[in-house]
Amino acid sequence: MNSKYHHSCINCGGLNTDERNERGLPCEVCLLEESPSDIYRALLERKTLKEYRFYHDFWNEYEDFRSFFKKKFRKDLTGYQRLWAKRIVQGKSFTMVAPTGVGKTTFGMMTALWLARKGKKSALVFPTVALVKQTLERLQKFSDGKVKILGFYSSMKKEEKEKFEKSFEEDDYHILVFSTQFVSKNREKLSQKRFDFVFVDDVDAVLKASRNIDTLLMMVGIPEEIIRKAFSTIKQGKIYERPKSLKPGILVVSSATAKPRGIRPLLFRDLLNFTVGRLVSVARNITHVRISSRSKEKLIELLEIFRDGILIFAQTEEEGKELYEYLKRFKFNVGETWSEFEKNFEDFKVGKINILIGVQAYYGKLTRGVDLPERIKYVIFWGTPSMRFSLEFDRAPRFVLARVLKEMGLIKAQENPDVEELRKIAKEHLSQKEFVEKIKEIFRGVVVKDEDLELIIPDVYTYIQASGRSSRILNGVLVKGVSVIFEEDEEIFESLKTRLLLIAEEEIIEEAEANWKELVHEVEESRKRIEGELTDTSKSLLIIVESPTKAETLSRFLGRASSRKERNIIVHEAVTGEGVILFTATRGHVYDLVTKGGIHGVEEEDGKFVPVYNSLKRCRDCGYQFTEDRDECPVCSSKNIDDKTETLRALREISLEADEILVATDPDVEGEKISWDVTQYLLPATRSLRRIEMHEITRYGFKKARESVRFVDFNLVKAQIVRRVQDRWIGFELSGKLQKRFGRSNLSAGRVQSTVLGWIVEREEEYKKSEKDFTLLVLENGVNLEVEGKIADDVVTVVELQEVEEERNPLPPYTTSSALSEISQKLRLGVQEVMDILQDLFEKGFITYHRTDSTRISLEGQNVARTYLRKIGKEDIFMGRSWSTEGAHEAIRPVKPIDARELEEMVEEGLIADLTKKHLRVYELIFNRFLASQSAAVKVKKQIVTVDVDGKRIGIEQIVEILRDGWNLFVPLTVSPRFEHRNYKIKEKSFTKNTPFLSLLRLLLWKK
Ligand SMILES: [Zn+2]
Ligand SMILES: [Zn+2]
Repeated sequence: MNSKYHHSCINCGGLNTDERNERGLPCEVCLLEESPSDIYRALLERKTLKEYRFYHDFWNEYEDFRSFFKKKFRKDLTGYQRLWAKRIVQGKSFTMVAPTGVGKTTFGMMTALWLARKGKKSALVFPTVALVKQTLERLQKFSDGKVKILGFYSSMKKEEKEKFEKSFEEDDYHILVFSTQFVSKNREKLSQKRFDFVFVDDVDAVLKASRNIDTLLMMVGIPEEIIRKAFSTIKQGKIYERPKSLKPGILVVSSATAKPRGIRPLLFRDLLNFTVGRLVSVARNITHVRISSRSKEKLIELLEIFRDGILIFAQTEEEGKELYEYLKRFKFNVGETWSEFEKNFEDFKVGKINILIGVQAYYGKLTRGVDLPERIKYVIFWGTPSMRFSLEFDRAPRFVLARVLKEMGLIKAQENPDVEELRKIAKEHLSQKEFVEKIKEIFRGVVVKDEDLELIIPDVYTYIQASGRSSRILNGVLVKGVSVIFEEDEEIFESLKTRLLLIAEEEIIEEAEANWKELVHEVEESRKRIEGELTDTSKSLLIIVESPTKAETLSRFLGRASSRKERNIIVHEAVTGEGVILFTATRGHVYDLVTKGGIHGVEEEDGKFVPVYNSLKRCRDCGYQFTEDRDECPVCSSKNIDDKTETLRALREISLEADEILVATDPDVEGEKISWDVTQYLLPATRSLRRIEMHEITRYGFKKARESVRFVDFNLVKAQIVRRVQDRWIGFELSGKLQKRFGRSNLSAGRVQSTVLGWIVEREEEYKKSEKDFTLLVLENGVNLEVEGKIADDVVTVVELQEVEEERNPLPPYTTSSALSEISQKLRLGVQEVMDILQDLFEKGFITYHRTDSTRISLEGQNVARTYLRKIGKEDIFMGRSWSTEGAHEAIRPVKPIDARELEEMVEEGLIADLTKKHLRVYELIFNRFLASQSAAVKVKKQIVTVDVDGKRIGIEQIVEILRDGWNLFVPLTVSPRFEHRNYKIKEKSFTKNTPFLSLLRLLLWKK
């Protein structure tokens, strides 16, 4: 390529060429040499060394840490530890988000020892005395005697305590080891001390007393005054900006198990740039199988295959007891959990018991309290976990009553009457039967049992929680589990299945598709791997997208645990089977052509065009965007400027942390250009940077994208550059002319606007020429006719009539243009609004990428249609069509077999957030159009009729009967009344002049 980027020189922050950036070189002003063996030395010799020192020092320090660790611990850093070490080296505080067994405590100890060599002080905080003692022993073993290690625990001898007191008072230590209790008892003293590194092993224990938070902050050198100020700012719901001069020590905490309470933990966010994370790893590998009858024989058969490590969840204690007795009769080694949980659990743990039976409940002991993935391999559900609600007027729950009355307009959306009031209103307006009918109408995707007056909502979270007992990351290995659900009720089962797919992206297969032997084998093999010495394969990955919503959605799907603030951007962190994944966003384009110099930002050098880019700046007050380097807005003079240089710097710093960087901006030329610009800035600092394309923001889309990692595609980047330069040139030149012509300075015409403008003018002329008179007729059989000219007759005569059978094929799925024109017309929304909604639906993980001119449907896409049709019992009309075979792009389609009604229901239930009614209506159109495109042709009976009116012959073709349903189930066809051989009276007659319709859309759609 051939372009220049301002601020991209890694050393001086000045202008550099893409060619030098690509090779990792600073600009020519900093360094003339083309291929120095050591950039750092070369800069040093030339006396131009500036920021490059930071990167050089960083790698040096990191390597020093790593070799120190290796020497002491005789093992290399794990992938998790590499990430943490790189943060320590940069002086960052953070939450250690990681499963157990990856060496958190070891890392804390090694960091303290490494820092001690530099004369720095550390404090290590543990929840129990046993851990304090154990750590002290290990530290002594690893240290070479030069490090002063001081520990405190309550059972120390008197003289030991005295010795401790003395050294503690005199600050005579490098590393201090104590318990959480010690923190609470010595707040005053600890607050006076200053540590370079504080390590908290069990953050839950520390957070129990919120005052401990202040103590920890003061221990890393944040003055009480600042903490007070920050807290009062946070209390007002605002974000506190830490003074730049403040350079606190490092605070590292383990991830919490409970959600931190209150707003005090937010002090960590504003003062140390991290949130206390909670490990909610969604990394699991479970095969879900459904058995469609509650057959005890089948259960016995399965237990004989599984043999050991089995949890069974019954719906009620009674049912559980019955199963328990039954299994005992068959001599199974089974234990129950309602009366003797502790004992039976211990027996299960050591293998004396093979099967544990419990009751399904979200907070149940067996659902949550058990963490034994090495033992638990199989989870069996005797019936779907569900919430059951009575629908009798006097017992129906509040949310059901309120929902029905709101939908019926009997109470207002904002109103919140108490439950008795709701019952009264319901009884006044409805009979019990009508009430149940209404519920069936309103609550979709749930089950209403008429005969028992019962509403059943599958409890997907309990199902996820309980089945998850069988699979999680253990010593860096993701162990496999199997979950079997015995459920005969199709409706309840389908409802659970849909929810599981939406929330966890996991599918349930039917018994016939399951190979039990193979499953058992996989389960056992994955557990064998955790036993022996394992070579660590964990790593850290940084994913850069352009939209914060996208980063948010993706990190949520992959189990977001914690978030960090890096300069002006947010980085989310998730733990998966392969390690840590960091997600962050560029927030759109980062660079644009400069406006000054060259020909509108393009210089000419040796007959070549060289575009010059500068970072984008946006005024936070008036929204104006510019590229010039100035600290105030050229329009409103505000100094509140959001400069993308800051974002790029943040990205460059984070890129140091990760083992691998993948830029996952949108899969089109704009996305490619953003990724190229980001690459410009990051390449001199890190080499392992690649590009992936995500066509849907789902776990599946991410997995798929990872299979084809590539370099930035220069052809796509060039296409964007040419387009942008063209825009600029034509736009500027045309704007100049417009301005001259109209004497106004604020007129501008981009390339696109200008072309469209010309085209519109032309079209309008043609359209005017086509202006004619029409008569609209409504016949006695209800058929509408539009006839050219003024009609005087009062009857039309059928002169010819023919009926034919015909197969009609569906339209292809939406592309961007067909979606925009049709959706905006059908829903009466502006084109821009539809585009924004499509963007939202894409970024939130509901549809595939919406900027596409392809009608292609992948096999996965076809499968979405098939699954949905099977779900609604219409698999017979499924007809997979790929429509086009070219390119990686697809048409716009839903990513999951979930229709708009189901989606709406889940929004109501709070399972998914922030989708407005408009989003749902747009989604519905996309869904239906897509489903139609994957459904069989419709067989229709068509009438071809010729009628005579005023001596004119008019041909009519219309569908009069549907002979066989197909895609019309999703996009209905109009069926018109039949004609016979006779005269028809004209019931209504109106004259219109087909006047030019100036809406842009109408013009766009109008064809000659
Ligand atoms: Zn430079
Ligand atoms: Zn402004």
